[in-house]
Amino acid sequence: MATHQANRAAIAAEVHEERLSPSQSVLESVLESAGRLQLNADVVGLLSTCWREVRAQLPVRMDDRKLHIFEGYRVQHNGARGPYKGGVRFHPRADLDEVRALAMLMTYKCALMDLPFGGAKGGVMCDPARMSNTELNRLTRTYTQHIGSILGVARDIPAPDMGTNAQTMAWMMDAYGQKYGYTPGIVTGKPVELGGSYGREQATGRGVATCMREYARSEGVSPSEIRVAIQGYGNVGSWTARIAGGMGFKVLAVSDVKGGIFNPDGLNITDLDRWFSVAGSVAGFSGATPITNDQLLELDCDYLVPAALGEVITAKNAANIRARVVVEAANHPVTPSGDRILGQRNVTVLPDILVNSGGVTVSYFEWTQNIQQFRWSLDRVNEELETRMVQRFNDLAARALKDGTRPRQAAFDIAVERVAKAILLRGFV
Ligand code: GLU
Repeated sequence: MATHQANRAAIAAEVHEERLSPSQSVLESVLESAGRLQLNADVVGLLSTCWREVRAQLPVRMDDRKLHIFEGYRVQHNGARGPYKGGVRFHPRADLDEVRALAMLMTYKCALMDLPFGGAKGGVMCDPARMSNTELNRLTRTYTQHIGSILGVARDIPAPDMGTNAQTMAWMMDAYGQKYGYTPGIVTGKPVELGGSYGREQATGRGVATCMREYARSEGVSPSEIRVAIQGYGNVGSWTARIAGGMGFKVLAVSDVKGGIFNPDGLNITDLDRWFSVAGSVAGFSGATPITNDQLLELDCDYLVPAALGEVITAKNAANIRARVVVEAANHPVTPSGDRILGQRNVTVLPDILVNSGGVTVSYFEWTQNIQQFRWSLDRVNEELETRMVQRFNDLAARALKDGTRPRQAAFDIAVERVAKAILLRGFV
């Protein structure tokens, strides 16, 4: 009977979840916070929609001379706390609603970290893995031309996200500069040679590993006793594996789109990186057993780190997660129904807006360096990042303890409260 009821609850949760678009899912956390904070209805109305959404037609001449028409977006969610900030994603699933959800998350991520930015996100529906460098260069320039008029060093500053990197930012800076004049602070995450910051490439992974270390400290467990599984071996997943491995965590399993690998004694990350640089995937690494991405998520481990796509832990698999802590290195990897099930099972979820905020934090450092035309050393970048991550981690833990809330709720409560305060102070409503 109990099982029957549990099954029905899981089916009901799935049906509810299927009806929620990514932006509606993010909005659920915001509305919950608004209720706890007893926010003014006008403020809630402003936060529930986006300030500006640009959709652009991006015609690009491909290498075979055929014209391909891509679709691109830039969504600016809320700018009460400062210029809009957020990455640009090149991915087949980067549709308008996904970009909207990610823009909303940026508003709260910047607020939680107390960075002087609002939230935005860009996206182009494309598959960069199947495009040549010249095609990507042309696409990036066309995209920049189309959204250039809403960007600006004090207006909206893009950065890399999934499917884009420092090279993409170099092309964006160049295309913007051709029209508006040399402006290094127009994007962050640039190559160091073009005014990028030392430490920006590793920053998201460093922030993730710092949160893992702080949580382990709060549990009173040494990293060497903590078995970690990481889904994704792109920029975020691979740097998390390297830095967390360096802190002593035992990284048992990692995966990418081609599959996963598992070694119960821990993976040798240096050997894995050597393999990856030749094979272009973690799959096939000889020091481990092959596993699928689904098996990785359900692996017997202590900390599970989804560091790839959104919505990978849902009502369908949340009951099978065996980790005691889920560390959200990706944006929005756990759906609201998945989150509820994890909560009922006492699985701690460290939320994305804290865990992966190291990237935008060092983007902020890069932006300030560009404005001041001054360069910080790598040590200074890493020290400032460390101080901020630890402070925000502690603020969040204190708030959760005070209010008896889960970490995600505490994170949104702090962030939503700050954005609401800025909206009211400006006299928007
Ligand atoms: N795309 C990253 C994120 O989701 C970084 C954004 C930025 O640096 O502006 O946080």
